[in-house]
Amino acid sequence: MRVHVISDMEGVAGIVKWGQVTGGDSAIYQEGRVLYTEEINAAVRGARAAGATDVVVMDCHGAGGDYTFNSLVPDLLDPGCEYVVQDEWTEYTAFLEQGCDAALFVGMHAMAGTADGVLSHTVSGQAWQNLRFNGTLVGETGINAALCGHWGVPVLLVTGDRAVCREARELLGDGLTTVEVKEGLGRFSARQQTPARARELIEAGAREALRDLSAVKPYDPGRPCEIEIDFTSPDRLQEYRNRKGVEVTGPRSVVARGDDWWSAWSAFFF
Ligand SMILES: [Zn+2]
Repeated sequence: MRVHVISDMEGVAGIVKWGQVTGGDSAIYQEGRVLYTEEINAAVRGARAAGATDVVVMDCHGAGGDYTFNSLVPDLLDPGCEYVVQDEWTEYTAFLEQGCDAALFVGMHAMAGTADGVLSHTVSGQAWQNLRFNGTLVGETGINAALCGHWGVPVLLVTGDRAVCREARELLGDGLTTVEVKEGLGRFSARQQTPARARELIEAGAREALRDLSAVKPYDPGRPCEIEIDFTSPDRLQEYRNRKGVEVTGPRSVVARGDDWWSAWSAFFF
């Protein structure tokens, strides 16, 4: 069984503040990396226990600088996985293309504007307000799920705060296993499981989720596909004015169109 662990940092137990996920020498970020890596290890153990033979981990957290997509602590990673450091988000698709049985999303956060979403945002808190796939409002769980779905890979597990677990079930259906490691009280506050307990829950959740590879259908936003982004301010449109496949549709909005999600996303994002 081949399993892709796709992860973000904001949804990890113990993490509630930007400083914990902002790359640099600060003690609080360095501690955050350890909390993050250990949740990944829990998912890897669970996947292995469920019979996974190939587990590839991909960090999708834009920490900033050389820590972007590079926040995991290599020396602490479970040797039961390999891991990818990519240059741009959604750039590495080889493991999906080669054929993959399931994806597990660890440490996810809710979409921009979610009142109880810890560190909630969509792609860029400064630049993006709303993202829609064929009219459906989505966050980063939706982006990663569409990426996996394009190559026929279902998402079977989402871990993070209560808000992202709710968002993921609404998008992917009740067959999805979710593990809630904290309950957001606001954007920068939460009632949390201890990291040790969160890891137990994630390990068990990964094992359970992989028992039925057909519990969730691969996510496809629909064909053709229209991706609409509302930015927070008009100046954000500048780089899209002459982009092929992208149309400026309002003072702060663009639409990218394609025969399928991946072609629309590629036109817009790369
Ligand atoms: Zn992140």
